[in-house]
Amino acid sequence: MLLGLEMLLITGVGFSLMNATAFIGESNTMPSLSRFKTGQIRFLPGYYQQAFDANRKYLKELDSDMLLYSYRFSAYLRTPGTPCGGWETPLNPNKGSFLGHYLSACAQTIAISNDQELKAKADAIVDELAKIQEIHGGWVQATGPERFLTMEGAFKGDDDFAVITAPFYVVHKTLAGLMDMYELTGNKKALAVAIRFADWVKTRIDTWSEEKLQKILEREHGGVEESYFQLAQITGDKKYGAIGTRLEHHAVIDPLADRKDNLAGLHANTQLPKYLGEARRYEVTGEERSRKLVEFVWDTIDKTHAYCTGGSNNKEFWREPNALKGTLCNETQESCTTYNWLKLTRHLFEWTGDIKYGHMMERALVNGILPADNPKNGMFTYFLPLTTGGSKKSWGTPTDSFWCCYGTMVESLSTLVDNAYFQTKESLLVNLYIPTEVTWNDVQVSQSTLTPDNATIKINVKASKTFELVLRIPEWADAEKSRVSINGAASSQHPIPGQYYKIKRTWHDGDEVQVSFPMHFAVKPINDDPDLVALTYGPYVMAGLTDKEVTILGSAKEIGKSVTQVGPMDFNVTTSVGTTRFIPIYRIIDETYGVYFPLKAAK
Ligand SMILES: [Zn+2]
Repeated sequence: MLLGLEMLLITGVGFSLMNATAFIGESNTMPSLSRFKTGQIRFLPGYYQQAFDANRKYLKELDSDMLLYSYRFSAYLRTPGTPCGGWETPLNPNKGSFLGHYLSACAQTIAISNDQELKAKADAIVDELAKIQEIHGGWVQATGPERFLTMEGAFKGDDDFAVITAPFYVVHKTLAGLMDMYELTGNKKALAVAIRFADWVKTRIDTWSEEKLQKILEREHGGVEESYFQLAQITGDKKYGAIGTRLEHHAVIDPLADRKDNLAGLHANTQLPKYLGEARRYEVTGEERSRKLVEFVWDTIDKTHAYCTGGSNNKEFWREPNALKGTLCNETQESCTTYNWLKLTRHLFEWTGDIKYGHMMERALVNGILPADNPKNGMFTYFLPLTTGGSKKSWGTPTDSFWCCYGTMVESLSTLVDNAYFQTKESLLVNLYIPTEVTWNDVQVSQSTLTPDNATIKINVKASKTFELVLRIPEWADAEKSRVSINGAASSQHPIPGQYYKIKRTWHDGDEVQVSFPMHFAVKPINDDPDLVALTYGPYVMAGLTDKEVTILGSAKEIGKSVTQVGPMDFNVTTSVGTTRFIPIYRIIDETYGVYFPLKAAK
């Protein structure tokens, strides 16, 4: 008998059954979801924990005097140590973005690991920023306030930005880092510094005409709009929400409200934070316009601009819709954009419960975030090359890079598991299959990957109550071969790929759910050429190790016939040069590779 007293339900609409203690339903929707706060989801041993720990080590090894060098210099304070290199060098007038990201990453890492050594280090940096802020009368940055005031005073048009190309960008990073230190580690001084800094900037903005503000907003400004809405959420003070509203960049946002695709030619990482600002605006004000335009732009990017990896830009810009073939190069998919794309996707997933956002979280994580992190040394890439062969990843160094993507990647590595689970009042959703554990409403759930190569996952429950455990069944799962079992008893109801699998029952300590989705190869054509394809294996985009373009020989429908496994996540694929080795793109370190290849029927 199926699962003892279990009852099947495949429409997603519940009904009662005498003696029923469980039912299963499948659908692609959930009610609106809530995220778990960073720190509530904990790592269990595995690749993700190793990546997190390597990042934690990097955060701890970075010298605080080096990170604070330009900040102290701006306030005429003693500057022990040596300054940062790369984009944070004292010679760069736009320096000052990394430390804010650094504080966010520390806050997230501390929340998960309770690393007191890192907490002491981050707290000391906040103390130092408070001192510098006192000297500057509210301003706190790697440059003195004169940089901002010069920009503001000299402003007449584009030429005035020749030196300071992104006046608000660094403001946002600092505010976000300070607010994260408050929200995730309880550092009240960090909030006080953030409020005083936000007030200083607000005082300047209040003097600007609308025309002047909109002109300045043309430049990359990070998520400054989001920061003011975040501050409104924290403090409950409406004046911050009002400034957030003023910071809407109308030239970019208004067409989206009219459902017009205006992406072509726009700098991706300048726009994504604007959409994040609108997402926060909806959450603070309830304005439907903001929600609808965010939903529209997400769909537009996904449907017409996204590569197989979930990334979407070429040399940092969006190009014409449905024309990706001509954009393949060594400078696709800036890592910052994947970070912001995942943040945006998370808001939408919470609002709608639509499973498509859960699928994207998996796709962009394993093919965007993991590939930009070097597991050997914890360093990062700026771009993720997507070509037809001959590409190499370009890794940065510990102290001489500090690109924008270093800031977003130290954060990404500290939030790797944040999207693993979501919750409603009655349900716990397992969204990502990562070795982790979470505590929810007196229930403890943990999952471990038994055999990574065929994605069989064991989910253990410690509970004594009735609730609904929901599993996201990936789109890539095989409808015929996927299985779910509870306490060793196989369910005859096979999971449907791309749907939620809902199990409601009275759970007891020691209950175990096993989910198995054997991975298989699939072909993903680029969006403007059905014969130029990437190969995927389960969720993983596969990279062909070749220094030149090769042609994959096989059939799109039966590509598995062209593949021979030679090791764990390691395959030979039949190509025009005999065979070509393929491994997941996240495992590429120094190898020369390509991702998209012509596909031709084998003779
Ligand atoms: Zn970047």
